Amino acid sequence: MSSKIQRRLIACATGLLRSAGAVLILSNSLLAAEPSSESIRAVRVWPAQDYTRVTVESGQALKHNLLRVRNPERLVLDLEDVDLQSVQQGFSDKISTNDPYIGNLRVGRFKPGVVRVVLDLKSEVKPQIFTLAPIGEYGHRLVLDIYPIEPLDPILALLQKRELKTAPGISGTPDEQKPEAGPSIKQPVNPRVDRLVTIAVDAGHGGEDPGARGRRGTREKHVTLTIARKLKSLIDSEPDMRAMLTRDGDYFIELGARVEKAQLVKADLFVSIHADAFIKAHVRGSSVFALSERGASSTAAQWLARGENRADLIGGVNLARKRDRYLEMTLNDLSLTAQVNDSLKLARAVLGELGGVNPLHKGSVEQAGFAVLKSPIPSILVETAFISNPDEETRLNDAAYQEKIAHAILRGVKSYIARNPPLSRSTLASIR
Ligand SMILES: [Zn+2]
Repeated sequence: MSSKIQRRLIACATGLLRSAGAVLILSNSLLAAEPSSESIRAVRVWPAQDYTRVTVESGQALKHNLLRVRNPERLVLDLEDVDLQSVQQGFSDKISTNDPYIGNLRVGRFKPGVVRVVLDLKSEVKPQIFTLAPIGEYGHRLVLDIYPIEPLDPILALLQKRELKTAPGISGTPDEQKPEAGPSIKQPVNPRVDRLVTIAVDAGHGGEDPGARGRRGTREKHVTLTIARKLKSLIDSEPDMRAMLTRDGDYFIELGARVEKAQLVKADLFVSIHADAFIKAHVRGSSVFALSERGASSTAAQWLARGENRADLIGGVNLARKRDRYLEMTLNDLSLTAQVNDSLKLARAVLGELGGVNPLHKGSVEQAGFAVLKSPIPSILVETAFISNPDEETRLNDAAYQEKIAHAILRGVKSYIARNPPLSRSTLASIR
């Protein structure tokens, strides 16, 4: 009896052990099947005419493969060892109908261990895929940039504007009313500029790179774009000026590409719009910066430049693409000195005008090695106000204040041009 019971107990225990073992094996196999089945943290899509960017963010680097399929045009992105559901969730509702390049998107399991993302394209494109290491608030990122086969021509857009400005009936009148010749008898008459002065207006940050953030959540990239657009429309309504925005949407542009765009349209001046931030909330005021040939004019300026130059790391630069794309910039010592001198004059003129709109952070123009200011074009970087200061954050969101800032920058630019008229150029023929 007792031995029977014993045997039963043993059998039972063995059964338990067996089933426990089976469970154990099962859970092991589950683990083995998806040892690194990575969940997608986020998918961000930044549609723009320049290019559409798709960013897939995860805790670990994703193994991936990109295929181009023709007739109809498609991009097929295979992601290995990734959780299907998280990919489906990440991509759901991310493609807007007005995306210039992506028409539709599908996600499914292609084969065990591989999730396939199919992007139906609206036209033939040039894709670029690369990965970015974690930085700031971001984890590992897989970046797919979708460029048009024929890049958009910024000069063409400007030339069309020029046609409008030179339409019959416009010429003559505005300039005659201008007080620029002034009552001063001694002053030599400025050489007449028979062409439009082109100003590159650069809205700092954008897309993947939000820039600084206010305590109430205001993002620098949105404020900079709003002010830049206002400044552009003010410039465009001047009879002898026109503006080119380096970005006109919420998408990322590399620092070098901003400079490149300005050079492509042969901009006379470059104005980069930003909003400052500091750990201490009470710090406030507007500032204007120029490039420094040597060190920074202060430790604060040095830190600021370092922070602004991080944009490329945050926004994500495809280094392979950068190498073959950027214009060769040969700035010898002489031309750099001239650029910095002109930039300082422009910066002082703008700072003086900003002082009438907002308290100045410092009474003088500062200098540091901002990457976006490194070009032969006289260039300034305007920190419109401190987004980290709650009062200034409120002002930065206020349309009337944004308008005032834009007007102040325009006045500064105009007074600089009045004193330093750009030379006429053979490449841009006379408009009158
Ligand atoms: Zn900034």
